[in-house]
Amino acid sequence: MTSSFTVSREPLLVVVSGPSGVGKSTVVDRVLARSPHIAASVSVTTRPPRGAERDGFEYFFVTREEFDRRRDAGDFLEWAEVHGNCYGTPAAFVESKLAAGTSIVLEIDVQGGMSVRARFPGAVLIFLFPPDLETLRTRLDGRATDDEEVIRRRLENARRELARFDGYDYIVVNDDVERCAEDCLAIIRAESLREERSAIV
Ligand code: ADP
Ligand code: 5GP
Repeated sequence: MTSSFTVSREPLLVVVSGPSGVGKSTVVDRVLARSPHIAASVSVTTRPPRGAERDGFEYFFVTREEFDRRRDAGDFLEWAEVHGNCYGTPAAFVESKLAAGTSIVLEIDVQGGMSVRARFPGAVLIFLFPPDLETLRTRLDGRATDDEEVIRRRLENARRELARFDGYDYIVVNDDVERCAEDCLAIIRAESLREERSAIV
């Protein structure tokens, strides 16, 4: 009789949300760099590129007409209007990665997080908190790619966004990037080991 077991694990759909400037991109980049089994989805947006952002890397940049056409065609897993611009997650990419066994991270707002939860009840939702509001302001200023009015609007929205973590599974404070990425990886690792995501083959 064989004495070894092979355990297969279902891939995860992970949502990372939090106010603008809290460090979502920075932390998700660290998580991806540390785990070859996780990929990130690239969203479609009507927002203009910021700083050195390139089409197809940080986002797919489209016109409002193109966005509406794709939304009406059912191309998005979820979509939302945030800070006056539209953002959507391409469904085909996410579904093909999950089908191939790769876990996916979506860096999306809380409206998107709740849509994902409704459609994929097993999704893992992580909410990033800044250590305090002053630090959030410093990070938004430090990014130096938005004008004054954009920063003001994002800070105003941040207070509202910070009160909307209740549908989330985990709260992680982004004080130190490495520690925050560590915490996210620990969550992902533990979630992927859950009994309901495992099969003995
Ligand atoms: P978000 O994706 O949430 O809008 P970013 O990842 O663009 O935020 O981060 C906003 C700014 O804060 C960037 O300049 C980034 O380098 C900086 N930042 C992110 N996390 C930290 C941290 N833990 N400590 C200091 N600066 C940080
Ligand atoms: P930014 O303009 O700073 O890149 O993003 C603004 C907000 O939009 C952030 O909260 C970000 O997480 C969110 N966002 C980015 N892509 C998507 C998406 O595809 N769907 C949703 N719902 N929100 C998104």
